[in-house]
Amino acid sequence: MYEPEVGSKKELAIILSKLKVFDKPKIRLEQYPTDSEVAADIFWDMIMRDIIQGKHVVDLGCGTGILGIGALQSGASHVTFVEVDEAALITLRQNLEYFPDISDDRYDIICSDIKTLNSLNPNAKKADIVIMNPPFGTRDEHADLAFLTKALELAPIIYSMHKTTTLQYIKTWISKKGAEIINQKDYEFPIKQTYTHQTRKIMRIEVSCLEIQNNNKLVK
Ligand code: SAH
Repeated sequence: MYEPEVGSKKELAIILSKLKVFDKPKIRLEQYPTDSEVAADIFWDMIMRDIIQGKHVVDLGCGTGILGIGALQSGASHVTFVEVDEAALITLRQNLEYFPDISDDRYDIICSDIKTLNSLNPNAKKADIVIMNPPFGTRDEHADLAFLTKALELAPIIYSMHKTTTLQYIKTWISKKGAEIINQKDYEFPIKQTYTHQTRKIMRIEVSCLEIQNNNKLVK
């Protein structure tokens, strides 16, 4: 039985706030870490609704790992981390070392572009949930759609974060694919302006987390 390692949303937020983030974020890859309070809110809701316990979760574009690690802390049985940037994966491995209780058979780390990811580790169970904070597509147009396309190939339930200003487009795209948005949570996403040299101003952008039911992958 896999149970959450945490007793409250606050406790989860504190644990996740201690994780290392991108050392030198790459603009090209839109490397913005998910805020720990936002991640804790998403996972606490999943815990309360008994959605994540014992599940195999895929963290697409995992970066330094806050979502996959959050999933493991919330009771997921297994996480597959997928990321194209080897430097981010070095930090992910350091973050995983903070959790000696997470045995290494509970996760796989795959260094790959999500577009060319053909399969998960054949020993891992089929994916139940994809969770991701994909590039918003501001650099590489429609990078977010490439992530959604891959997520729809992988799992029956997808949690995906999108810039609220792009939501209408994303929602239409999702419904054309035969998937359904069953929940939406809106956040003010704090983004540290680490790209602009010395200044470390915090900007806020509106981001929505969509819970998508992938009718093509539901067990009938
Ligand atoms: N999931 C992390 C990181 C979000 S930022 C978090 O929530 O904190 C988006 C991540 O997607 C970055 O780590 C970036 O390197 C990765 N990424 C961007 N394009 C990618 C691609 N084509 N394939 C795999 N990973 C990609």
